[in-house]
Amino acid sequence: MSTRTLVRGGLVVTAADEIHADVLIEDGRVVALAAHGSDTAAGWTADRTLDATDRYVLPGGVDAHTHMELPFGGTFASDTFETGTRAAAWGGTTTIVDFAVQTVGQGLREGLDAWYAKADGVCAIDYAFHMILSDVNEYTLKEMDRLVQEGITSFKLFMAYPGVFYSDDGRILRAMQRSAENGGLIMMHAENGIAIDVLVEQALARGETDPRYHGEVRKALLEAEATHRAIQLARVAGAPLYVVHVSAEEAVAEITTARDKGLPVFGETCPQYLFLSTDNLAEPGFEGAKYVCSTPLRPREHQAALWRGLRGNDLQVVSTDHCPFCFTGQKDLGRGDFSKIPNGLPGVENRMDLLHQAVVDGHISRRRWIEIACATPARMFGLYPKKGTIAPGADADLVIYDPHARQTLSAATHHMNVDYSAYEGRTVTGRVETVLSRGELVIDQREYVGRAGHGTFVPRSTCQYLD
Ligand SMILES: [Zn+2]
Repeated sequence: MSTRTLVRGGLVVTAADEIHADVLIEDGRVVALAAHGSDTAAGWTADRTLDATDRYVLPGGVDAHTHMELPFGGTFASDTFETGTRAAAWGGTTTIVDFAVQTVGQGLREGLDAWYAKADGVCAIDYAFHMILSDVNEYTLKEMDRLVQEGITSFKLFMAYPGVFYSDDGRILRAMQRSAENGGLIMMHAENGIAIDVLVEQALARGETDPRYHGEVRKALLEAEATHRAIQLARVAGAPLYVVHVSAEEAVAEITTARDKGLPVFGETCPQYLFLSTDNLAEPGFEGAKYVCSTPLRPREHQAALWRGLRGNDLQVVSTDHCPFCFTGQKDLGRGDFSKIPNGLPGVENRMDLLHQAVVDGHISRRRWIEIACATPARMFGLYPKKGTIAPGADADLVIYDPHARQTLSAATHHMNVDYSAYEGRTVTGRVETVLSRGELVIDQREYVGRAGHGTFVPRSTCQYLD
């Protein structure tokens, strides 16, 4: 039995176009678009019609950087795949790409299988995986090839967190050389973790233990230095590079220089770097712990460079790096020692709205909003045009968005499994009204009607900017 849904009367916004069109969906896919009131649309019969008058019809968001249930600093990120994907849907995101973790001493296979198991049967929306490489060796390099075949086509390495995720330059180079051969994309956490750890030790010895020192020791220059080094290593290896969570103006400059040379270097930033700053880290008492993440929040002045980078395409993607830890019971672990505060912020539910606010504020255009939040992450990670756009043949992952509704972001009303909001009390214009995942309603006019297990694993092709 095929089901047909008609989304009628909206403004369809994609990275390429803004068109007043009705969208016909059949068997979970978009089959056609037609001008409002056209004979074609009038002749379409549907089992269900959704009214999108005065609304935007958007492709579902693609959040290419989440960490559900991530083990970190002796605890786990507080959103499970079940709660985190439900919250994502509430925020208009219909695909996440999460990071499976290789533990040192284990193969990639064990880590990946553990992540398949965590996500299996519980997700509200579709999901895919990147692989975190914590231990680059002959065996894991071979495993990378197999993972690319399996649809895990990107690998994250860390220049920070010595003793946990850290890889030295030699290991990074080897992984990059391998990815140049097998088509994988290396994603880099670019901070000089060896130098940072020295500064952490010195700060703690001086009695500087408050959350704000987290931002002071993780210096912008050490992000820029690592970004520069990662780019040079990628050049030597002849590999493309994607730098995750870029926060410092100086790091954006390194990426801009590389791109001006025509190198395949890409940059991602996150809403927290665009909307929050070291002012938040310096909030009184222990409040600043809510904003501890790495790379850290920067002084406000860096934000202009990030917006400029997004407008000029030196930065291409906005993901969340969603990695929530409760203020009570988790962030607490770092009272009296900022280095023990679990690193991460909640945000998977807020990204589409915050970026719409950026449209309202004039930072980016409406189409650029969809480009950095839907289309480019889909292309970057081999999901396009199944995900990231509204076109015949695409998965019917659609958001009906009310661009005029006002809402106040708050832990009291959000759906993420965390006891605070990084944006508490902030009022934004625009709100998700209805969400479809492969043609099935997940959110129906601000009511959750989805189900755990609807979301399926999506194997990915290689980066679509390198063909
Ligand atoms: Zn991350």
